Amino acid sequence: MSSLAVLHASQLITLAGPKRPRVRAEMSELAIIRDGGMLIREGKIEMVGSSEEVAKNAGHVEIVDAGGRVVLPGFVDAHTHLAFAGNRLDDFERRARGETYEQIAKAGGGIWSTVEKTRAASGEDLFNQAQTHAELFLRCGTTTIEAKSGYGLTVEDELKILRVMRRLNEEKPLEIVPTFLGAHAVPREVDANEYIDLVIDEMLSRIAKEKLAEFCDVFCECGYFTIEQSRRILTAGRKLGLGLRIHADQLSNSGAAQLAAELVYALGSTAYPRAREMLDAGLAVVLATDFNPGSSPTPSMPMILSIACMQMKMSPAKAITASTINAAYSINRGGKIGSLERGKLANFSIFDCEDYRELAYWFGIPQTHSVYVKGERVRLWGAQAAGL
Ligand SMILES: [Zn+2]
Repeated sequence: MSSLAVLHASQLITLAGPKRPRVRAEMSELAIIRDGGMLIREGKIEMVGSSEEVAKNAGHVEIVDAGGRVVLPGFVDAHTHLAFAGNRLDDFERRARGETYEQIAKAGGGIWSTVEKTRAASGEDLFNQAQTHAELFLRCGTTTIEAKSGYGLTVEDELKILRVMRRLNEEKPLEIVPTFLGAHAVPREVDANEYIDLVIDEMLSRIAKEKLAEFCDVFCECGYFTIEQSRRILTAGRKLGLGLRIHADQLSNSGAAQLAAELVYALGSTAYPRAREMLDAGLAVVLATDFNPGSSPTPSMPMILSIACMQMKMSPAKAITASTINAAYSINRGGKIGSLERGKLANFSIFDCEDYRELAYWFGIPQTHSVYVKGERVRLWGAQAAGL
């Protein structure tokens, strides 16, 4: 565990504030320190202030000169599908031709092609592919992700995916918060109610016993799982002590968000993702990539910031809050990460820009300068290593 002093951030974006998710006007309060610095000991933040103050208290620790760049808490991506085999390039081309998700699924693409490849992959294969994905997240300045299973859809394959995520969490610097999404789809070979029994009676109990997941998620959507079926699964997950998440209103307005409002705290009763309405309703909005091979093959939170600002009309400050401290609270990590405050883990990224708004403004341009997890600079290990 390192001790170091970070000095001369053009803007140290601390997000210091109340110890809870931020709502309404609070989402605009980034608590920025100009020419800011941080003192880090044993992987934790000991002091945050002006570079002058921090330098005075630093003693003989290693100095990291941020050189007039922006320093942010590591992004927290609260919704990803990290571990899958292969890609969906053919689907991508079909979509580019104008085919819908449903048409592509009928033609044998969609989630089924990924399920088949993921089932066929060995644990080692899947680990190698997932660690390549993990590297991409770090490269974009993300230090914690929530990650879902859900491309196995058998007891053994769901366990395989969750074990891969556990190993990755132990061996690599990206922190992974695992979610069980056995109810991602009903496998073709099984009847829906039989499958739900399997999810509840076998998968959930084994996952709870091996402590392989912190959350339980359901794809609540027409053609996937009904409101009633979703309620059964989520209620069973809650009984085993898992937190709840839900995929709702991704493809249509099915009333699933209403169920989410009953069972889960973060979603409201309006269609997702009308961000402005959610903000106005006082919800603690969270942004995430939904990294997955079908609809969102990006691990880049800066890209999501751009989309949030340009397409969803969120301010850059609110988008930063939604992708750091609020995201941290949504995965029960608000007390440890998501802001740069005394006592929190020293997970942060330095970006090659002077103003945090540039992250969303210069879209499509990698601006990551360096990434730190628990005060240690992340060294990428595989194909991406040359890039950072
Ligand atoms: Zn998703």
